[in-house]
Amino acid sequence: MNEATLQERLLGLPLGKIRYFESTHSTNDEALAWAAEGAPDLSIVIADEQTAGRGRLNRKWFTPMGTALAFSIVLRPLAGSHLSRTVGLAGLAIADSLIKHGLTPRIKWPNDILLYGKKVAGILVEAVWSGAEIDSLVVGMGVNVHQESVPPSEYLQFPATSIEAELGDTPNREELVRTILSALIARRPQVDSNEFIRSWEDLLAFRGEQVQINTGDPQPLVGELLGLEPDGGVRLRDPHGQTLTVRFGDVSLRPAA
Ligand code: ADP
Repeated sequence: MNEATLQERLLGLPLGKIRYFESTHSTNDEALAWAAEGAPDLSIVIADEQTAGRGRLNRKWFTPMGTALAFSIVLRPLAGSHLSRTVGLAGLAIADSLIKHGLTPRIKWPNDILLYGKKVAGILVEAVWSGAEIDSLVVGMGVNVHQESVPPSEYLQFPATSIEAELGDTPNREELVRTILSALIARRPQVDSNEFIRSWEDLLAFRGEQVQINTGDPQPLVGELLGLEPDGGVRLRDPHGQTLTVRFGDVSLRPAA
């Protein structure tokens, strides 16, 4: 990625500061440290390669050199915002930009973006605390752009794809960063509204279908995916017809076996 071209593409967006790295351990780690030192709202850390990119629970996220997008956004949220809604905001921002490219993305609750049933992007939101208060949130995004960014299948629990493979064309990575950031900025003022939850729900993968959710208990929860709760949790109808809710967290959702 050319840093000057990137800066030029992002001109006009109301961003904080931008730090570009050819290679770094993890853009979230860089952004967390920078946020703790006072990085302004909407500052961006972006890298052409991550050598220790992370998913949730310290699972590895692959970002081979020059093939993907890996960036993290520092947000200084208003008091009371749900962390889960920030994950939804990031998901909607990526989805909006894929829709602009003519694709049909779905959000696999809670934190992955799918194209036609395969994972194309992941989100990792982490907080910087100041005592009991959230000082800032770091919103990490990993997006598979070129097909070379897709890890070998033996590393994956869920099938993966790239924008290139689904579009039959390679979008410009700097332009993609711009469309994702401008979508996030446009949606952010609505993040606490009911309409926001409705928009997120409209893009949910497997809605109306049977899913299983692994919560860490020996038995996964199974049921029809009905929709979202105001707190970002998910609602299922279990095989006995009872509605149950699963709170937002380190849980994995799959189509039912
Ligand atoms: P989950 O699949 O449970 O939502 P995470 O959100 O924590 O998991 O993402 C980490 C997982 O994503 C890794 O364990 C790996 O299987 C998978 N993965 C890592 N890098 C990529 C990538 N570039 N594209 C798609 N999937 C990836």
